[in-house]
Amino acid sequence: MTDKPIVLLEQAKKSFGDAIVLKDISLSVSQGEVVGIIGPSGGGKSTLLRCMTLLETLDSGRLAYGDLIVAENDAAGRAAYASKAVQREAKMRFGLVFQNFNLFPHYTVLKNITDAPLHVQKRPKDEVFEHARALLGKMGLAGTEDKVPCELSGGMQQRVAIARALCLNPEVLFFDEPTSALDPELTKDVLNVIRDLAAEHMTMVIVTHEMSFARDVADRVIFMDGGVIVEEGTAADLINNPRHERTRAFLANYE
Ligand code: ADP
Ligand code: MG
Repeated sequence: MTDKPIVLLEQAKKSFGDAIVLKDISLSVSQGEVVGIIGPSGGGKSTLLRCMTLLETLDSGRLAYGDLIVAENDAAGRAAYASKAVQREAKMRFGLVFQNFNLFPHYTVLKNITDAPLHVQKRPKDEVFEHARALLGKMGLAGTEDKVPCELSGGMQQRVAIARALCLNPEVLFFDEPTSALDPELTKDVLNVIRDLAAEHMTMVIVTHEMSFARDVADRVIFMDGGVIVEEGTAADLINNPRHERTRAFLANYE
């Protein structure tokens, strides 16, 4: 791990109508770091990831991918976004894996994985197909390339979604509760794939309800509640020795 931030979010604020969902959140993710985000439902975890991945806009704050400044406050203190071209470039630097896989149902596995590398990144066909097949092998999905998503289990579909994100060569991968829609026996395969990526020092931000997984895999764990980071620390510290009452009360549900 190095100190070079891959993604930096500063003083992020976001409201939906009267509801303040993110209240002054700052988060920096270093190269090779695995950050786990835990916390009760409605705490703002998905909104945080959606703001970091440009699916939502910040009301105020600063967002940068390396030297690319995506959003920065203007004189009035409102987040002003960079040009579409800069945003497109920033979007090439991360991958995103959702709870519900979000594969294209009518595309084969191979087409799901190779579509964006071929048509958005405009990489050579041979290289992209080779990369995609290597990723399928690594995810334990060899032989599935001509299937369509509904022919696969949820756990396999989620591993296709991870392969699809990885085939874009992202600098950082974001996961929003990647196993919440899966049965326990399918969850394990998906978590093991993410564990392998962590062992290879893939930079990742993972929202999860799997506490033992977060403790094992994350270098740093953040507990979010009510739109704020209540506390953060090493995985062992935060999960085994939470300092705040809100964190303790939340973790008590998982004992
Ligand atoms: P979490 O992922 O921690 O469960 P979310 O970020 O999904 O939390 O939601 C935080 C709060 O923001 C919730 O009260 C939710 O209802 C609200 N919220 C999220 N997205 C929207 C939206 N697009 N419009 C209105 N309210 C939203
Ligand atoms: Mg959520």
